Amino acid sequence: MEEQSIFMRVRNSFLNGKPIILVDEEREVEADLVFPAELITGNITEFMVRYGKGLFCTVGPHDELIKRGFFKLPSNYGANYFIPIDYPLEENSTGIPTYERALTCNSISDNSKWANQFKYPGHVTLIGAIDFSKRKGHSESSVELLKICGFKPYSVIVEILDESGDSHNFHYIDELSKQFDLVKITIRDVWKEYIKNEQLISISSRAKLPTYYGEFEIISFDNRLDYKEHFALVKEWHDGTPLVRIHSECITGDCLSSIRCDCGSQLENALSLISTHGGILIYLRQEGRGIGFTPKISAYALQDRGYDTYEANVCLGFKPDERDYAPAFQMLRALGIHRIRLLSNNPDKRRQLNEYGLEIDAVENLYGRVTEYNKEYIATKISKFHHNINMEIVNNSSNYFHHDNSNQ
Ligand SMILES: [Zn+2]
Repeated sequence: MEEQSIFMRVRNSFLNGKPIILVDEEREVEADLVFPAELITGNITEFMVRYGKGLFCTVGPHDELIKRGFFKLPSNYGANYFIPIDYPLEENSTGIPTYERALTCNSISDNSKWANQFKYPGHVTLIGAIDFSKRKGHSESSVELLKICGFKPYSVIVEILDESGDSHNFHYIDELSKQFDLVKITIRDVWKEYIKNEQLISISSRAKLPTYYGEFEIISFDNRLDYKEHFALVKEWHDGTPLVRIHSECITGDCLSSIRCDCGSQLENALSLISTHGGILIYLRQEGRGIGFTPKISAYALQDRGYDTYEANVCLGFKPDERDYAPAFQMLRALGIHRIRLLSNNPDKRRQLNEYGLEIDAVENLYGRVTEYNKEYIATKISKFHHNINMEIVNNSSNYFHHDNSNQ
């Protein structure tokens, strides 16, 4: 409901001629003023240039811009810049007054206008947005936001700089939002709505998979969300809500019997429980808390020198935990599952799945094997990742297939 109301607020703000602030908390740590290109006027352009102060850009779907004949610039990084444009009002217009720049933005949002009707190089930076699933920049999220709010997928964006010209000052951004009563929304908010609205994962193949824990059905997926080969193991269940384990790949623990962590034994434990009670195991190919295999081994090397698993990931320039459970949510939805009992100690997993709209009836702990090699690692999961693990049980546990049903 919260999300619904924020998107309605954004829509109303646009209809009332007010830009909104789109905050990127995770990637660039910047915020942009955003407005629909189709509705922008000279006055709104003037406001955005005066109070945003960054680059004045208009953004449209990359492939449509190419189709309409616009010229892409060579680039060696993420954003897809095109040659800047003007839409000439009359013969001697310069393109720089705000009413002319507004006209250029209105014109780019009109699909019937072709590249040869514009002037080059002009005074409005033109950017092509690719699929939001492939890039989560301001360009892509602003276009997605407009689609969600019922406007054409062409936005106008300007980065917000503070009095000293810094673009990373969130306090200033908050003050600006208060001063002009501008709605603030994050890229993460747009991403959550996108994951709810667009089903990008579908079932590809299903086959029998006999294992030492019993016979499962193994299911592969066509995945246009992150293009990774996630899969699911399913065992038929009889009572209403399936037991679900969402397991992130740990090739050293899962396949090589490593006891640096408890992943391998958690996986065995999950298979055993799901085989007994029925349910689903979602296996996500996000090695090393989403940082990838090679960085994980670099993180291990740092841990050999005294860092903990949290510090090691940060030291390598990653977030402590990079995992996104959007693919798990969409895989479950592809399987027709909207309500689960979650086997997990990880509060972030529960929070994310909840935010995407999955109903979680209960959370049940899943313990792994405790060894002298992974005790510290498990202690860090508790102290820094706030995993709901009872260390007393861990300390006293000689039985590594411990399953605690008491925690909801
Ligand atoms: Zn592991």
